Amino acid sequence: MTDTKPTITIIAPVYNEEPVLPELYKRISAIMDATDDTWELLLVDDGSHDRSAEIIAELHANDLRVKGLSFSRNFGFQEAVTAGLDHALGDAVVLTDADLQDPPEVIPEMIAKWREGYDVVYGVRESREGETWFKLVTAKLFYRLIHRITSVNIPLDTGDFRLMDRRVVNSLRSMGERNRFLRGMVPWVGFRQTGVTFVRAPRFAGEAKYNSFRRMFKFAMNAITSFSYVPLQLATYLGFVMAAISGVAILAVILLRLFAPHELTGQATTLVAVLFLGGVQLISLGIIGEYLGRIYDEVKGRPLYLIDKTWGIRK
Ligand code: UDP
Ligand code: MG
Repeated sequence: MTDTKPTITIIAPVYNEEPVLPELYKRISAIMDATDDTWELLLVDDGSHDRSAEIIAELHANDLRVKGLSFSRNFGFQEAVTAGLDHALGDAVVLTDADLQDPPEVIPEMIAKWREGYDVVYGVRESREGETWFKLVTAKLFYRLIHRITSVNIPLDTGDFRLMDRRVVNSLRSMGERNRFLRGMVPWVGFRQTGVTFVRAPRFAGEAKYNSFRRMFKFAMNAITSFSYVPLQLATYLGFVMAAISGVAILAVILLRLFAPHELTGQATTLVAVLFLGGVQLISLGIIGEYLGRIYDEVKGRPLYLIDKTWGIRK
């Protein structure tokens, strides 16, 4: 096998995906071999605790078009994808989940759109099988919220399953931000973007890693803080609203004091006002903290990921 540059790179982040990797390779290679394009499958092991790394090594030994790298620990999905983009050789790059929730059968459709001249072809979910109603509802709310408060046009109901032209990949690689939110970064880049619809399949095997509320919350916070100042401005709006309410309240208190001196009894009113204001102030402070922490992350300038092993990757 020669070390020529493939036309298409397929990147799949892998975190404890031992039961799905052989099937992933089988499905991808069957589909890609049916196209006229040369391809490579780049598996990024995000510090798995199971045999994922060994399986990547085996797949690579048996087919050199399978390449891989392994992180020194679990860095997270966004970082794994970033490493994939950094090491992809293709003229176009396809991002897909390793668990076969993004059906590989859609990839030829994406390639066809790319040939038509589109730089980004994202997969739009037509329906989602095998997801909990909680995930469906929160995902829907999340997309609507993001749409309202950010200036980048993040397409509705799209995940990370997408094809990107080399110039989009190079643009993304020039964006060195930490706390990455790829679904916002890709539309931010621009160029010609389009979508193809697909039905999101249930996971082939194994367990979803994003089900914990904490993880989804962090994901949402990164999305919002990366592309919007609206939460920071919230404190200002709240301040104005509170000032207006206080104006009315002060007037009411004065009138009550003058004309109905016995109406204003007890400390309940004071207590409610103090507690409410305390809550508003703490929330505002927390929002500032979210941004501050992210600025701190940027300033430290640490690498986004550290590589332990590689298979078939030229340096
Ligand atoms: N993943 C990863 N690092 C992590 C968590 C997940 O690389 O810390 C990978 C995982 O192996 C899978 C993809 O990201 O290929 C999506 O994860 P999952 O299927 O758990 O998420 P969901 O489909 O529920 O959004
Ligand atoms: Mg999944």
